[in-house]
Amino acid sequence: MSDSPKSTAFDAHHPPALEIIDKCVHCGFCLPACPTYSLWGQEMDSPRGRIYLMKLALEGKAEMNEKWVSHFDSCLGCVACMPACPSGVDYGKLIEATRAQIERNYQRPAADKLHRQLIFEAFTKPDRLKLLRWPLLAYQKTGLQAALRAIGAFHLLPKSIRAMDSLLPQVKRTEEVAHVTPPKGEKRKRVGLLLGCVQQCFFSHVNAATVRVLSAEGCEVIAPPQQSCCGALFVHAGEEARAQELARKTIDAFESANVETIVINAAGCGSNVKEYGHLLRDDTAYAERARRFAAKCKDVSEFLAELSPRAERKELRAHVAFHDSCHLQHAQGVRAQPRKLLLEIPGVRLSEIPEAPICCGSAGIYNLVQPDAAIELGDRKARHISSLQADIVATGNPGCILQLQSALAKSGQPVPVVHTIQLLDASIRGASLDTLG
Ligand code: SF4
Ligand code: SF4
Repeated sequence: MSDSPKSTAFDAHHPPALEIIDKCVHCGFCLPACPTYSLWGQEMDSPRGRIYLMKLALEGKAEMNEKWVSHFDSCLGCVACMPACPSGVDYGKLIEATRAQIERNYQRPAADKLHRQLIFEAFTKPDRLKLLRWPLLAYQKTGLQAALRAIGAFHLLPKSIRAMDSLLPQVKRTEEVAHVTPPKGEKRKRVGLLLGCVQQCFFSHVNAATVRVLSAEGCEVIAPPQQSCCGALFVHAGEEARAQELARKTIDAFESANVETIVINAAGCGSNVKEYGHLLRDDTAYAERARRFAAKCKDVSEFLAELSPRAERKELRAHVAFHDSCHLQHAQGVRAQPRKLLLEIPGVRLSEIPEAPICCGSAGIYNLVQPDAAIELGDRKARHISSLQADIVATGNPGCILQLQSALAKSGQPVPVVHTIQLLDASIRGASLDTLG
């Protein structure tokens, strides 16, 4: 990496690209789509404002100081601005490059740095997350969590700790996924399954449901045991080198599996692995392999919607509110497929949540590092969901499940929130709604 030229606030390693920045014609069509602009109405917390700030820094007219960085820290990275932009500005690439520059060149306050480090150390290591299950189980089952909440003990603690407590998943029995699961009936496909970090430790029932559905649809499912974190949280937070290291490991783990498709059931991971070609573009040993890997990746709803249904769907009488995860709808452009799968279940009535393109506030580690904005967005989403009087909420990302559960519980209307695949699995197995959630 070379030294930064004096005429710019960025170093020379992939600064936000001027050719993308210059595509912005300042029309403002992206402003209503942006959650932070809708919350605060501030130009510098809009996509157009942030692109302007990038350009100023690129031209050496703005410093990478606390104020400048705060406008990028407050960005959810939800990329709702991209489908709204008529000029095709790839804001996703800009914010990713800007965040990597910030993490390399800006000295964060020590407490902020430590907080982020703790989050990464916990959430990107499945082995460490598994160890956390036991103290968490004790905390929840002994009634300590409920007691501390009841006496308002968390109000004495920093907001970041309160946010963490409110987002803790309910620890459930672990459902292991076999390395190889055979198809039911004649084999149609051989697919790989990315297990995810948070998903395999706290949502193992979602992985198990995914495997059952894929198998019922005639797929042989390979879940390579040596797979690690895919690096999504690192990419979204600007930790480029660590993300690249995990991307290489993930590619290695799946190459020997010899699968046609790699199925992902966590939208944040899916949007990351589909961009491995870009992440490893400078790596001569991996660039081509990363492109091949990315081309095989599909969200589970995308994959199943293309496969004609073979397993019988039994009736599931449910009014379902579907929540689009930003990393599915905006980053991957997957909107129709989960709706199609849900509507194929007899008895399901589907409702659209008002303001569907607006983020729920989860956004990777956003709800842990920017709790105020995340709470406002979560409350807003909970109000919209409550207005529908649905029986259950379905979505395609573990982060959104935790954020919505927390916001709905706080609103006093705790509608169960599940992964879309759980409803499909329940329908194929003939299980009732009460067994989910
Ligand atoms: S990524 Fe989301 S929060 Fe950030 S500028 Fe775009 S719409 Fe706004
Ligand atoms: S919609 Fe696109 S071109 Fe218009 S201001 Fe937003 S980013 Fe720029």
